[in-house]
Amino acid sequence: MSTPDAHQDLDQDQVLIVEDEPKIARLVADYLQGSGFTSHHLDHGDAVLPWLEDRPTRPELVLLDLMLPGTDGLTLCREIRQRWPAVAIIMLTARVEEVDRLLGLELGADDYICKPFSPREVVARVRAVLRRSRAASSPADGSSDLILDEEGWRALADGRDLGLTAVEFKLLKVMMHSPGRIFTREQLMDHMYRDHRIVSERTVDSHVKKLRRKIAEAWPEREVIRSVYGVGYKYQPEE
Ligand code: CA
Repeated sequence: MSTPDAHQDLDQDQVLIVEDEPKIARLVADYLQGSGFTSHHLDHGDAVLPWLEDRPTRPELVLLDLMLPGTDGLTLCREIRQRWPAVAIIMLTARVEEVDRLLGLELGADDYICKPFSPREVVARVRAVLRRSRAASSPADGSSDLILDEEGWRALADGRDLGLTAVEFKLLKVMMHSPGRIFTREQLMDHMYRDHRIVSERTVDSHVKKLRRKIAEAWPEREVIRSVYGVGYKYQPEE
């Protein structure tokens, strides 16, 4: 799980917009500002990492265009995720079909928005992603009492051991580490087995089903593992 410390150097409500189309950047910036956010705009991929490095604090979220002059959005997403894991990332892409490919690349973005988009939609998605990442960074606020005991390979719901198998534990662990992020079955298989040639995607479904059943026994009224139709699964304690 991420720790509250990981969020200490974040600039609350600040969004970095990385977008080479000035009109789009300006429109998004205006809407964000109108909704109480501050934003900074960069229009070249090469400027992003130096800008983030040079600041005493990081923006809470980066809106990252995929196609940029200089360093591309894919590379930037990976770098930001690795170096500043607490910074949320929403990728902007020109085509819906791109999203499937991006999910397959396992970049670690928190969400994807397809162009053309309405600035209102962007603000709504920014809010949703920030709500999720803030909730994930402070488990003490009561948003989730599901705890991973990583050394003991156990998961505890309100202190009660769920009795997970090793595979179920690994599944839950990878999803809980990135709340709200959608994982494809293929990605989950990579985390479950060293060599997943021996298993099918249906195997993932069956493990997820058992995992959900065990969580449901502890919390009949709450759903934390959600299916995303046609894509895969995500861990999301609240909608
Ligand atoms: Ca672009």
